[in-house]
Amino acid sequence: MNKQMKATQKNNELVDMFSRTISYLRLSLTDRCNLRCIYCMPEDREEGLKILQHSDLLTYEELLRVIKVVVDMGMNKLRLTGGEPLVRRGVMDFITALSKIQGLEEIRLTTNGVLLKEKAVGLFEAGIRKLNISLDTMRPERFKEITGADLFEQVWDGIETAVKLGFEIKLNVVAMKGINDDEFTDFARLALKKPYQVRFIEFMPVGKNSTWDKRYYISSTELKEMIGTVGTLEALPGCRMDGPAKVYSLTAADGSTGRIGFISPISHHFCDTCNRLRLTSAGTLRACLLHDHEADLKALLRSGGSDKEVRALIKQTILDKPKGHTLAEDLKTPDQAHCQGQMSRIGG
Ligand code: SAM
Ligand code: SF4
Repeated sequence: MNKQMKATQKNNELVDMFSRTISYLRLSLTDRCNLRCIYCMPEDREEGLKILQHSDLLTYEELLRVIKVVVDMGMNKLRLTGGEPLVRRGVMDFITALSKIQGLEEIRLTTNGVLLKEKAVGLFEAGIRKLNISLDTMRPERFKEITGADLFEQVWDGIETAVKLGFEIKLNVVAMKGINDDEFTDFARLALKKPYQVRFIEFMPVGKNSTWDKRYYISSTELKEMIGTVGTLEALPGCRMDGPAKVYSLTAADGSTGRIGFISPISHHFCDTCNRLRLTSAGTLRACLLHDHEADLKALLRSGGSDKEVRALIKQTILDKPKGHTLAEDLKTPDQAHCQGQMSRIGG
């Protein structure tokens, strides 16, 4: 069989029932985190969040095995997330091992930036070039209110360190009316000054104890109007390719330019082009962030499952990937069930 036929056969395994090619794995390395963001881990502030035991996580050896199978099936892009991926012990050696997997073209990382200053050089040396960094406010006092920790300066230093090293950065801002909406234009101005893309994410109701409330919700359409007061927004061609974000150039009156992304899971869902599969920190495969159906990969691995069986389970999960979510519809009815899974365990 020639190389091209092999590649086509591999990719066929990644095509779901709706002709989407699932080429991207999001891996939640841990559900632990050094922050407690109000929109992600609110439970822990009150009654205590149920955190996984170390033995519940897939070991690095198990993860490397699964990733090799996934890459052999034709997936070439991996995102490490969590919880906070940088708090897991041994993560740097794991990333170095990942970077040696033939065919894995890109390893990306989503982080809250708390440990970035100390780990940025190591991440760069291990081959990571793209970082998504979460930052919802540029005001230290507010940062403490949103995340539960007084660590704004540390995160900011981490971002500056990463910029200097030459990482390609996207800054993720969860948009919350009445909480950080008075800073959206400041974030847009930041995008004019800095080399990174600022992306606004619609607040999603994920997890059974979600703090989501209609009052906090602000749609990308409203956001765009606000950002439009800073400069002219123009959709960039091919912006659907940039993950789930629609990306725009922002040009201010003084000629300065920047990039702004909008991620709109509620107002303009992107299910028809979703290319993601998730491996949760509990070792389950999850085909959709907003559907609770998961396949127990860890049980298969720990009961002696072969690579062939692992591959079959991944393939089946892809075939079971739902067409899309119905969040916008569900939210019209108060208390309508949406997904129960915890964001930090699934990986966002
Ligand atoms: N700890 C890392 C971080 O904060 O970047 C990675 C994990 S976090 C779960 C991944 C992303 O999900 C972050 O950008 C975070 O802002 C986003 N996120 C968490 N909960 C959310 C929610 N309810 N709605 C929208 N985005 C959310
Ligand atoms: Fe931690 Fe990230 Fe969740 Fe915030 S969004 S609590 S930083 S996992």
